[in-house]
Amino acid sequence: MKTLVEPTLNLPEPNAHNHQQCVHDALKTAEHLCSERGVQLTSIRHQVLELIWESHKAVKAYELLDRIKPLQNAAKPATIYRALDFLIAQGLVHRVESLNAFVGCRCSGHQHEQLLLICKQCEEVEERTAGKVMQALAEEFRQAGFTAHSKAVEVHGLCRRCAGLGDA
Ligand SMILES: [Zn+2]
Ligand SMILES: [Zn+2]
Ligand SMILES: [Zn+2]
Repeated sequence: MKTLVEPTLNLPEPNAHNHQQCVHDALKTAEHLCSERGVQLTSIRHQVLELIWESHKAVKAYELLDRIKPLQNAAKPATIYRALDFLIAQGLVHRVESLNAFVGCRCSGHQHEQLLLICKQCEEVEERTAGKVMQALAEEFRQAGFTAHSKAVEVHGLCRRCAGLGDA
């Protein structure tokens, strides 16, 4: 399998959407959910979440470590992994298994399965709840007598922009 080791190109953000709003909403949701659940969104957890939300790209743990070092000198890989485990358990972040990377969840307010559309060019990940697909899959699993453990379906390809179809 081909891995994505190409350096991240410094492309201008072509997205027409207001990403500041994405980040703002994601952090607000996280704060709200954590206080509702009585769990602590510690400063390191908050920082990791914020770094993941810098873009819609999947981020690898070592990239997070690199970026957090200037903020928290004592940060070690284990620090990052513990923060990631917490964020994943709270449904605030999803693991993109096929890239061994992480992406912020846009709909963490509720339990959901995911269809992850992974662009091999810009590395952005679009999350879709794809209810019908998931229902059909569940039916397949039932027929096969298969107990599925992963809740995400990952598909690699080109996003709308990279395929030259323009913004939505
Ligand atoms: Zn955004
Ligand atoms: Zn999600
Ligand atoms: Zn793309």
